[in-house]
Amino acid sequence: MTTSDPSAFIVRGQVLSFRDDPFAAGSDAATAYQSDGAFVVEGGKISVAGPAQDILASHPQLPVERYTDDLIMAGFVDSHVHYPQYEVIASYAGDLLEWLDNYTFPFEARFADREYARKIADLFLDRCLANGTTSASVYATVHPQSAGTFFAAAEARGLCMTAGKVMMDRNAPDNLRDTAQSSYDDSKALMEEWHGRGRLQYAITPRFAITSTPEQLEAAGTLWREYPSALMQTHIDESRNEIAEVRRLFPDARDYLDVYERFGLAGPGSNFGHAIHLTERERDAFAATGSGISHCPTSNMFLGSGLMDLGQLRGGANPVALGLATDIGGGSSLSMFRTMKAAYEVARLCGYGLHPTHAYYLATLGGAQLLRQADHIGNIAAGYDADFIVVDLRSTPEIANRMEHLSDLAEMLFVQMMLADDRAIRATYVAGRKLYQRSGAHEH
Ligand SMILES: [Zn+2]
Repeated sequence: MTTSDPSAFIVRGQVLSFRDDPFAAGSDAATAYQSDGAFVVEGGKISVAGPAQDILASHPQLPVERYTDDLIMAGFVDSHVHYPQYEVIASYAGDLLEWLDNYTFPFEARFADREYARKIADLFLDRCLANGTTSASVYATVHPQSAGTFFAAAEARGLCMTAGKVMMDRNAPDNLRDTAQSSYDDSKALMEEWHGRGRLQYAITPRFAITSTPEQLEAAGTLWREYPSALMQTHIDESRNEIAEVRRLFPDARDYLDVYERFGLAGPGSNFGHAIHLTERERDAFAATGSGISHCPTSNMFLGSGLMDLGQLRGGANPVALGLATDIGGGSSLSMFRTMKAAYEVARLCGYGLHPTHAYYLATLGGAQLLRQADHIGNIAAGYDADFIVVDLRSTPEIANRMEHLSDLAEMLFVQMMLADDRAIRATYVAGRKLYQRSGAHEH
């Protein structure tokens, strides 16, 4: 076989991919693992994948990037993260609302300055790549240029990213409020410029019910009807204080989700952060309407918000679409390894065992599904975009030691998810280009 792309190449290593959703099909049927696998990258995409022997034989002319001792998998998808909060990580506060007032809002105010926004967007995206995250659904600040600046930085790197300007017209400092009309106008202008441009898509982003008037939620719903291919992201049922405040502000609503449903802000393409303290009606409505949830376990533990019951939401008979997310800066790590570990621990505290293949699925293809991009990112398969990572399976002495006595693939994945972090990311490729390579004495 020949390729028309002169820069085409083969990647060879231990390749992990998914044939199906492991929550539905079971771990063994859903997971594909080639201990000596390979795939061809051409034109920014994976054109063919399979056993190394076959791929090498059918493409003898192509150069080979060899990672024989490493795991090759799809880049991580972080389904809920606030890039303007990169510098807020690890800020001590009593609870969510206090943390927003004391740290987050003052930092977000800095994004009125375009140069500052550019600096943080670059820093954030470079750290995402160093952590093996190649796609994310990102909150900007209320300032329209904070979203524009982020999109430009993502486009410069060729990244597949989702983002939106936060809509927030009450219960926030003066310098962080828009109006129902200006948020509609600004979001629309951003969508016209960025939604569907290259690898970018827009998410309509009312911050949460507390910081939006009914008029603004109405405007958000109108926007979504006008641009149904855009996504919608917001927060829900994160902390008890927050829920009490939503009840006070929307006394007619049946519950928190109902506030959003009334304005047409639920259904496929919606992405709700947290969803910890759901009522039975909300849980049923999530499944029935095809609304999605981003599980943010490090954030939930850091802010003491509560334990999301992953087994109940994803493991049961009426599963809800679910992604895994760092929620920086409520979350404490940009690493999706750390996030999978926290998800495992939170699930354990709820009495549910999160199998490693299920966790890796949520951190890649499951997140892509939530963002309506599972047909081209989140997996290693023919036709997929070549967004993938090279995982050093012996990145610390403890991991290297543990790797000496493994019984199977699931155990290997589990050891990595419990012990690894950004040190394990040897290289990150985006659309076939190596955008990150770990430096250090132990590189080979
Ligand atoms: Zn958040």
